[in-house]
Amino acid sequence: MSSTIETDAKVRLAEVVGAHNLLAGDEVGEDYGHDETLQVEPAKPAYVAKPGTAEEVAELLATASELRIPVTARGSATGLSAAARPVDGGLVISFERMNRVLEVDTVNHVAVVQPGVRLDELDKATADHGLAYTVYPGEQSASVGGNVGTNAGGMRAVKYGVTRHNVLGLQAALPTGELIRTGGRIAKISNGYDLTQLIIGSEGSLALATEVIVKLVPRLPHSATVLAPFREFTEVVQAVPKVIGSGLAPHILEYIDNLTMAAITHTSQLELGIPDSVRDTAQAYLVVALENREQDRLDADVQAVAERLTELGAMDCYVLDGSSARKLIQAREHAFWTAKAAGAHDVIDVVVPRSAMPEFLTKARELAMQNESGVVGCGHAGDGNVHLAVFQADPIKRQELLLAIFSEGARLGGAISGEHGIGRAKRGYFQALEDPAKIELMRRIKQAFDPAGILNPGVLFDPISPESEH
Ligand SMILES: Cc1cc2nc3c(=O)[nH]c(=O)nc-3n(C[C@H](O)[C@H](O)[C@H](O)COP(=O)(O)OP(=O)(O)OC[C@H]3O[C@@H](n4cnc5c(N)ncnc54)[C@H](O)[C@@H]3O)c2cc1C
Repeated sequence: MSSTIETDAKVRLAEVVGAHNLLAGDEVGEDYGHDETLQVEPAKPAYVAKPGTAEEVAELLATASELRIPVTARGSATGLSAAARPVDGGLVISFERMNRVLEVDTVNHVAVVQPGVRLDELDKATADHGLAYTVYPGEQSASVGGNVGTNAGGMRAVKYGVTRHNVLGLQAALPTGELIRTGGRIAKISNGYDLTQLIIGSEGSLALATEVIVKLVPRLPHSATVLAPFREFTEVVQAVPKVIGSGLAPHILEYIDNLTMAAITHTSQLELGIPDSVRDTAQAYLVVALENREQDRLDADVQAVAERLTELGAMDCYVLDGSSARKLIQAREHAFWTAKAAGAHDVIDVVVPRSAMPEFLTKARELAMQNESGVVGCGHAGDGNVHLAVFQADPIKRQELLLAIFSEGARLGGAISGEHGIGRAKRGYFQALEDPAKIELMRRIKQAFDPAGILNPGVLFDPISPESEH
C-alpha cells in the first residue's frame, strides 16, 4: 500500500471508531499478530480497530471492502489453528470493547451477549440465575465470538453439544456493510437456509457476529468425578460407548494417557492418591464426571458407573473429592500449556467415530514411530475427539506425519479437526484431503458473503490473489 492510501485508510477507519480506538503502525502491539497456535509465524497488521457497536463493525467492514483491506476478527486469540492470526498489513477488528452480557433472559433461558464477552464472565453472570452456558473449552478467557468463529467444543460437549448446539441466534455484520439478524430467542426455526449455522465455525471468513443469543440450561448443584485407570489403552476406549450407553449421561468423559497424566499432575502439583503399583502399570485413565439435582441420586449414579467401569476392566475407581476433581479437570483443560512447556511442536485434534478410536490411536502411534516422532495425548473420548501433542522438530517430517495421521482419520470416517478448526495452520491438509466439490461449494458461499474477499483471507482456502495475503 502506498503511504497516501495508508493515510487515507487510517483516516477512514478512525472516522468509524474514533482515533482513540484505532491503533496504526508502531502502535499495534506484537500480541495482535498471533493466537496460541504453535509453529505459525506472527503477522504485522497495519491497523487494530476496537469498535464499540454493531454499526461500527458493519461500517468498518464496508470501508475495508471498499479499500480492499484484509480483515481478521479477534476475540481473545486463544485459538489453536491460527484463524485469528491476521494478514500482514491488514486490519484486526478486536472485540475487546464489545464485552457485555446484555441480558440473562430467565423465561426463554437464553443470554444475549456481545461477542467479546469472556466465557468466565458469562459463567459468573449466568450462575447468579442458577443457569449455565455449557460450552466450556479448556480456556475460559476465550470469547463467545471466538467460540462462534471456531464452533468451540470442550469437555461438556459429550452431554450438551458444541457451540452449534448452543447458539440460537446472531446479529452479524456482513462484509458488504449490512447488519442481519438470524434465529432468535426461539428453540426452533424453519425459515430457509440456516445462516446462524453457516456463520458458526466459519472462522471469521463469512460475517462477524456482533451479538450472540446463547442457550442456557439449569445449573445442577451436585457433581462427582470418578477416575479409572486401565491397563490397556484399548480397554479405555472400549469402555466409552458402554458408559454412554448406560444412560448415566456423564457431562465429562475424557481419556488421558499415562504420560500426559504424569505431566499434567506434575505441573499442577496434584496428588490423586493413586498407588505407585497402579500408576506404573496403567496405560491410560478415564475421567467420568456426573451431575444431578439430588445428592442421593448422584451417589447412586456414581456407584453404578464405578461398578460398570470395574466390569469393563478398570484397575480401580477413585471418586475424587471436590477439590481434587476441580484441580484434575483444570489440569486437563490446561494440557495444552503443559504440552507447550514440554516442547511439543504441534497439537492436533482429529475427530473419528467413537468406534474407530482404538484403531486410530494405534495407527497414529505406529505412524509416529515410523517417522521417529512422538505423539502423546488426551481427549474428549465421548466425542471421538483425540488431542495429540506431536513431538518432531523437523518441519518436513512433521508435515509428512500430520498428513498421514489426518489421512488415517479421514479414512476412518473422521475429520482433521473436531473443534480447533482449520485456520491457517491446517489449511494445506484440508485442501489436500477434503472433497474438491465441497471446497468449490464453500468458495462460492464465501464469494456470496464476501465479494471483495476481505474477510480472513488465507483461512480455510489458499488466498485468491497475492495481495489478499502477504
Ligand atoms: C489451553 C487451551 C485449551 C483449549 N481447549 C479447547 C477445547 O477444549 N475446546 C475447544 O473447542 N477449543 C479449545 N481451545 C481453543 C480456543 O480456546 C477456542 O478455539 C476458542 O473458541 C477461541 O476463542 P477466542 O475468543 O480466543 O477466539 P480467537 O482465537 O480470537 O478467534 C477464533 C476465530 O474466531 C473468529 N472470530 C473472533 N471473533 C469473532 C466474531 N465476533 N465473529 C466471527 N468470528 C469471530 C476469529 O477471526 C478466528 O477465526 C483451547 C485453547 C487453549 C489455549
